[in-house]
Amino acid sequence: MNALERLMGNLSRLPGLGRKSASRIAYYLLRTDESLVRALAEDLGRLRETIRPCSMCGTYTDVDPCGICTDASRDRTSICVVEEPRDVLTIESIHEHRGLYHVLMGAISPIDGIGPDSLRIGSLVDRVRRGGIQEVILATNPTVEGETTALYMVKALKETGVKISRIAFGLPVGGDLEYADKQTLTRSFKGRNAF
Ligand SMILES: [Zn+2]
Repeated sequence: MNALERLMGNLSRLPGLGRKSASRIAYYLLRTDESLVRALAEDLGRLRETIRPCSMCGTYTDVDPCGICTDASRDRTSICVVEEPRDVLTIESIHEHRGLYHVLMGAISPIDGIGPDSLRIGSLVDRVRRGGIQEVILATNPTVEGETTALYMVKALKETGVKISRIAFGLPVGGDLEYADKQTLTRSFKGRNAF
């Protein structure tokens, strides 16, 4: 197998890339500006060395704690809980949340062997227990797993007495946050419901 075939094979293992897209990208890289190929190779090499989960919120960052956690202008009384680091970017893009984040790193899914203990729920409860947090906004996906996780967190946080809300979904059930259009997501954030 030569380098081109190997690259196509590896690219096609990435999410969202079938064999067709993989070969289109590989052939493109062969004839495009060499600086792009070098930059990509360098970025890939450094990715896992320099990017780490933030020790406070869990999102990916190259400085710990991350820029959001250390931003003095943000509202430190409100935490928005999301499943994945990429969801932080999605929520940030609608400019409705001025508070902090907490990334769970997934959702409860018994079929996949993912229970509450494999997620960052304990550290969320700890953050709330430490005080200062007035509202927890649950922005897990509108899927069975996301709903199950939201309900579990309501129970886990109950004794803290914190105000809990769930973003309202005009979103298609079963979908992921990142695929929602900004208007729908803005509406669902503004119209969040208290538990
Ligand atoms: Zn952080």
